[in-house]
Amino acid sequence: MSSRNITSVQDAQPPSSNNPASGDPLLDIRDLRVVYLTTRGPVKAVDGVSLAIRPGEVIGLAGESGSGKSTIAHAILRILHPPALITGGHALFSGRDIMKMDDTELGQFRWSEISIVFQSAMNALNPVMKIRDQLLDVMQCHGLSKSVANERAVHLFDLVGIDPQRLEAYPHQLSGGMRQRAVIAIALALNPDMLIMDEPTTALDVVVQKDILQQIASLREKLGFSILFITHDLSLLVEISTRIAIMYAGEIVEKSPARELFEHPLHPYTLGLMNSFPSITGSKHKLTGIPGSPPDLVDPPAGCRFHPRCPKVMAICSQVAPSTRLISPDHSVSCHLFSQ
Ligand code: SF4
Repeated sequence: MSSRNITSVQDAQPPSSNNPASGDPLLDIRDLRVVYLTTRGPVKAVDGVSLAIRPGEVIGLAGESGSGKSTIAHAILRILHPPALITGGHALFSGRDIMKMDDTELGQFRWSEISIVFQSAMNALNPVMKIRDQLLDVMQCHGLSKSVANERAVHLFDLVGIDPQRLEAYPHQLSGGMRQRAVIAIALALNPDMLIMDEPTTALDVVVQKDILQQIASLREKLGFSILFITHDLSLLVEISTRIAIMYAGEIVEKSPARELFEHPLHPYTLGLMNSFPSITGSKHKLTGIPGSPPDLVDPPAGCRFHPRCPKVMAICSQVAPSTRLISPDHSVSCHLFSQ
C-alpha cells in the first residue's frame, strides 16, 4: 500500500525523496516484452524495454504512433486485454513486481499508487455520470467515506483550477480543457506516487495544451508524484521532463537527460524526430521529417530496426542489432555509429 494513503481531505506532503536526481527507482521496468497475437503471427509491440523512474522524476517517452509507448503504459497497469499478451519482463514498483500481483493487490495498487490520464477525456469519462459521481466512485472503491470523498472532490477541483460547482456537470457540459482537468483530478483522487500521462494534451488546442502542461508541472511540484509522460511530440517534453527515452519499433533506442538530448541528440531516429517539429523561437529551417514508415512488427527488419529508414545506414546495420552503449552517466544509445 502507498505510504501516502488518504487520511484527510488535504493531500499528504510530497515524499522526502522528491529529488529527481537521487534515490532508488520508484518504478523499475526490466526487459518488458508484450506481443499482440494475430493470424499473421505475434506483433512484437514491446521488445525488451528497460526503464527506471526515480521518485519525483518526470520521464518523457517519445516515438511515432505504433512504437509501443501506450502498450508499455497499459502493461505497467496490467490493463492490457487479449490479443495482447505480456510475454516477459518485470515492473518493480517500490520493489514489488507488478507482473506478479494478484487481482486483489492490483485493485488496491491501481489508482492509489499509480494512476493514468488517457489521451481522450471524453472516452475516459462515463458520459451518463456526473463528474462528482465518477470522482466519488474511485475514492469510495478505495475505502473513503462518502463525506470525506465529497470534501476531497471539492479540494481536487480547486487543485486543478475548476470551479467546484462544475462537479455537478456531465462530461459533455464541460469544455475539452476542463474535461482533461477533471480526468487529472480523478487520477489524483488517491494521491498516487506516480501518474502515467498517455498523450494527455494531444486532443487539445495549443493554448489549452500549454495551460494543462503548466498545471501538471505545478501539481507535480506541489504533490511530488513522478510522471511517465507519453507523447509523439518530442518538442513538448523538453518543457517538462527530467529525462527522455526515445522508442522505435518496440525498443528504446536512446535515453538521456532532457536538456542533453536536445543539445546533443545522438541516434539518427532522435535527430529525425527533432527535425520533424518546427521551432517557435529558433531560426527557420526546412522540416525534413523521417522518410518511410515504421516496420511491420510481425517480422521486424534484421539488425537495427531503423536501418531501412536511416540516413546514416552502414553495411553492418542490416546484419547485427546494435548494443546499448553508455555515452555519459545518464545518456545511452543503441546505434553502431557509437559502438566503438
Ligand atoms: Fe542508423 Fe545503423 Fe545507427 Fe541503426 S545502427 S540508427 S541503421 S547508423
